[in-house]
Amino acid sequence: MRPVYREPQTALDSVLPRAHYTVYSYHVLGGALLRQIGEYCSYCEVALAGNAAVEHIMSKSQDATLETEWDNFLLACVNCNSRKGAKTEKASDLDDYLWPCDITRDSSSAYQYYWDASAGVGNEVARVRVSPTAPTTYGDRPANTLALVGLDIDRSQDPAVPDRRADNRTTTWRVAVRLANDLASFGNTLAAYDGELAGLLIDQIVATATSLGFWSVWMTVFRARLTQAGMLTTSIDALLLRLFVRTFPGTYWGANQAAFAPIPTGHTGLPGGRT
Ligand SMILES: [Zn+2]
Repeated sequence: MRPVYREPQTALDSVLPRAHYTVYSYHVLGGALLRQIGEYCSYCEVALAGNAAVEHIMSKSQDATLETEWDNFLLACVNCNSRKGAKTEKASDLDDYLWPCDITRDSSSAYQYYWDASAGVGNEVARVRVSPTAPTTYGDRPANTLALVGLDIDRSQDPAVPDRRADNRTTTWRVAVRLANDLASFGNTLAAYDGELAGLLIDQIVATATSLGFWSVWMTVFRARLTQAGMLTTSIDALLLRLFVRTFPGTYWGANQAAFAPIPTGHTGLPGGRT
C-alpha cells in the first residue's frame, strides 16, 4: 500500500486561510489533497481518473469536527469507500489499523503483492496479502486494514459485486511485466539508461504507470525483474525512485523521505495528531 505524505495542516493554513475551508468544507480541501498525493485510491491504488472522492479515515458521523479535519482525509475509489463504510466509528478504533498516511509506520513494507497462477493459464490474479516480513510491531494492523477495505477480494469470491479492483490490478501487473522486460533488455549498465531509446522507454513507463495507478504493483514487478536480470544491483532503488516514487505525487518511501521538509514535532499524519 503506497505510503503517502500530506503536509501538516499548519502548512496548508499558510496558503489557504483557515476560514476558507471551514466554510467550504472538505470540497476545498479535496483539491489540495489531489495535488499533494495524486489522484489514486489511498487503499487499492487505482487511478481515480477524475472521480476521486474524499475519504474520511474516521467517520464524520462520529464527530462533526472530523468532517473538515485535514489529517482525517484520504482518497478512495467507490469499492474501497463502500467496503469500508462507517466501520471506523470510534476514536479508539484508529489505532487498530494501518493507514497509508501514518508517517510513523511504513505501509509499503506491510503488504506483499504477488502473482497467483494457481487457477491456471488465463485465470491468473495479482493479489495482495500481509507480508510475512511486515514489522512485528505493527501487530494486527495490516491484516485489519486489508479486511476493512476488502483488498484481497476478487470477483471469483464475490461474483455478484461489480468490484473490479483485482481485475484492474491484474491487468496493470501484465502491462508492468511487459515494460519491465523491455527495460531489462537494455542491459545492466547505468549508462544504458541515459541513451536516447532507453530515455523514451522510461518516459513511456512513467506515463503508463501514473495513468493506471497501482504503485505497489509497479514497484514489485520492476524490483523483481531488475533483480532477476542482475541489473543495477546497487542502484535498483535509485531507478525505482526515478521511475515511480517521484512521479506518483506525495509518495513517502525510503530515501525519498529526505526530499521532504522536516516533519514538525508531533505530526503523525493521523487525525488529531494521534499516534
Ligand atoms: Zn480503492
